[in-house]
Amino acid sequence: MTTFDYDLFVIGGGSGGVRAARIAAGEHGARVGLAEEDRMGGTCVIRGCVPKKLMVFASSYRTAMAEARAYGWSVEADGFDWTAFRGKLDAELDRLEAVYRSGLATAGVSVHDGRATVEDAHTVRLAGGETVTAKHILIATGGRPFLPPPAVAAGALSSNDIFRLEQLPKSVLIVGGGFIACEFACILNGMGVEVSQYYRGEQILRGFDGEARGHVAEAMRDQGIDLHVGTDVTAMEPAGEGTRVADTNGRERVFEKVIYATGRVPNTDGLGLERVGVKLGRRGEIVVDEWSQTSVPSIYAVGDVTDHINLTPVAIREGHAFADTVFGARPTKMDHDLVPSAVFTRPELGTVGMTEEAASEAGPVEIYEASFRPMQSAFAGRAERAMMKLVVCAKTRRVLGCHIVAPQAGEMIQLAAIPIKMGATKEDFDRTVAVHPVMSEELVTMRKPVRTA
Ligand code: FAD
Repeated sequence: MTTFDYDLFVIGGGSGGVRAARIAAGEHGARVGLAEEDRMGGTCVIRGCVPKKLMVFASSYRTAMAEARAYGWSVEADGFDWTAFRGKLDAELDRLEAVYRSGLATAGVSVHDGRATVEDAHTVRLAGGETVTAKHILIATGGRPFLPPPAVAAGALSSNDIFRLEQLPKSVLIVGGGFIACEFACILNGMGVEVSQYYRGEQILRGFDGEARGHVAEAMRDQGIDLHVGTDVTAMEPAGEGTRVADTNGRERVFEKVIYATGRVPNTDGLGLERVGVKLGRRGEIVVDEWSQTSVPSIYAVGDVTDHINLTPVAIREGHAFADTVFGARPTKMDHDLVPSAVFTRPELGTVGMTEEAASEAGPVEIYEASFRPMQSAFAGRAERAMMKLVVCAKTRRVLGCHIVAPQAGEMIQLAAIPIKMGATKEDFDRTVAVHPVMSEELVTMRKPVRTA
């Protein structure tokens, strides 16, 4: 019988890899090694969800202070101190990284700090050149921002660089229309930076519900973000302390910083996967089956590197399901249906299930919708509007999708996702008594469809 150094070797200490390693070792008693080439915790903890959300909080106080004045408080704001905030942010990320490391140590996982590559179906090469063997290898290497070469040459920044800025620029151009681009546009705008955003498509937030996209775009423009859709960069060159940018509409403008958030690619370059016969897709993503198993039976992959649904909770669930299946004798498949998510723009967008566009293509639907001025901001004289929408199957009455644009929509959609996942009908929503006065009471008080499609 072959003996291996480990039962499992995990490459990548992010959301998916850490969860798989901890469950395999801590709960199922497997001998586990894990290599991480950067900081433990991965994208979510070090350069994604966590620092981003802390920036969302930091940026929200400008409006909150203005609103406080409208409610009778005398508030003097001295401006935002990026250096002070960054110091606290760095300390918090250090703390979280330490929590991740101690969780792995408690579970008995051997951590190797450094890059690892795949040598063969059961062998991993570590940064120092030594090799280790494992019965199973899990690739959880995540993804990274993709910048077109001319943008790199012109010194454009990626989302990774925003967290490391020494000081906040006076003006930025954000290129891209996905959730990361839109979130940073709102964050930097809230922190007092002059923000322009160019997106080449016809509307930001492709893939989300059409009306919700329009609603967020309008709110972003209302708060002073200079958002241009149908616009791309044609050339960039240094100009004084900034960058001169020419665009497809024939304009030329100078920005202190240019940030590209035009997409992410799976981290599979140079991992040695093709050599051992692991099948990759067109974008370099690892192709896996419903058990996260690759075309090489001893090698599995979870999280962003598979380019399925690139969200932290999905990577965590996939890692957990893999560990239960392979080491816990508890075969578990990840369920990718009805995954809720939020975009932390101002206001937020919370979404679960089918968009109106997708649902109406699949069959007849009824659309229930409310658009209103939330009490809190209306009292303060702000024009902000909220939107709640249910997409209902006309035949089965099931709620197929829910889309909310409102402050705290991320919190609301988590709860709305539970009945929708359970198969709730519109009548189940109607039977539920409202909580008053809250924004989400609209979800259970929408009586008549605004249209059928
Ligand atoms: P990662 O977390 O990317 O971990 C992969 C790890 O592997 C990294 O630490 C990397 O250094 C390491 N690695 C790579 N190659 C090697 C190698 N050869 N050897 C050793 N180590 C290696 N998701 C949400 O759910 N909510 C959000 O609000 C949200 N906001 C985001 C904001 C931003 C700006 C970004 C960029 C992402 C955001 N995401 C969000 C997505 C989320 O961060 C990812 O889906 C999640 O981190 C994926 O986890 P993972 O384990 O697949 O990969």
